[in-house]
Amino acid sequence: MALDTALADRWRAVRPPVAGVHVDSAACSRQSLAAIDAAARHARHEAEVGGYVAAEAAAPVLDAGRAAVRVLTGMADAEVVFTTGSNNALDILLGDWRGERTLACLPGEFGPNLLAMAQHDFEVRLLPVDGSGRADIDAAAVALERNPPSLVHFTMLGSHSGIVQPAHDMAAVCRASGVPLIVDAAQGFAHLDCAGIGADALYSSSRKWTAGPRGVGMLAAGTGVLSESAMLRLGHAETNIGLHVGLSVALGEHIGVGPTEMQAGLREVGAATRTVLDQVAGWSVIEDVAEPSAITTLRPPDGVDPMEVRARLIAEHSIVTTYLGLERAPREMTRPALRVSPHVDVTDADLETLAEALAAVTS
Ligand SMILES: *Cc1c(COP(=O)(O)O)cnc(C)c1O
Repeated sequence: MALDTALADRWRAVRPPVAGVHVDSAACSRQSLAAIDAAARHARHEAEVGGYVAAEAAAPVLDAGRAAVRVLTGMADAEVVFTTGSNNALDILLGDWRGERTLACLPGEFGPNLLAMAQHDFEVRLLPVDGSGRADIDAAAVALERNPPSLVHFTMLGSHSGIVQPAHDMAAVCRASGVPLIVDAAQGFAHLDCAGIGADALYSSSRKWTAGPRGVGMLAAGTGVLSESAMLRLGHAETNIGLHVGLSVALGEHIGVGPTEMQAGLREVGAATRTVLDQVAGWSVIEDVAEPSAITTLRPPDGVDPMEVRARLIAEHSIVTTYLGLERAPREMTRPALRVSPHVDVTDADLETLAEALAAVTS
């Protein structure tokens, strides 16, 4: 299968050269030179004119970043706040929740999200799913109708699998039953279509598919979702403005390439990755080849430890992948796995190199 080389070339040309093979965008993508430089220039400007004066000068860039989030989420009237990441956004939303503390989420919910829900005293109910962990929308509609929770927290793409959850359908069900919907788009944003979901709140991380800097993220909240006092506190909180500038540049670059082009490129990447890696040295791909995401999850052969394989791929082959322990999705995962998540710059040759290296470190 031939990948879209024009998109790959464009993506690669604006980044530092990669040392080895980087197929780890679900953990942390490679930033562009422009995003890196913008954040560094802002830090320099702070030293020149003072941090608060530099912040005023950066305001239009940050406004453009927030506008990009509104476009990409289709939440035209949303309050957009920069956070320190997805977990921070969930913490803000749940901490500020003024309704009853009951929520429904998928069995494949991200482990740290489950911890945040417990910490904020939410009673957690599980949404019905099929055998692959994908939401069963008809059954979910019945469950919400019978015993509506105070909110649905929906992780549209998990950290432990490339299976795309039907966020748009779930949003329609939530609307019909009057249950507010929060979407975890840590893996979905700048990867899958988020624009038509119509969530009450949606949040993501900068460093994943958006390819912005680490340590920041974004939260889009519909009118009235966050209390006035929460908004006031967020407005006064100390933040790393340079990194928000870098993130805003990355968001602009994403829109510049085109969200639909990126989504199509990433779907192709997922299909190509699964085609090359399935059954290499006894590893099996969990997703269907055509699952519309760029995340590939590999189940190890018996007796092979994916944590050790991940370490050896880095040390011996300069190939970066992710180890997936059960804590990623403690209510769904039964065995550890290896995640391969290339961005649009991956080549067929990279995937062949990975397949050979995987075979070499497995035997
Ligand atoms: C990475 C991730 C998070 C947490 O994001 P942080 O920015 O590290 O807080 C939440 N949910 C999912 C599905 C993730 O993949």
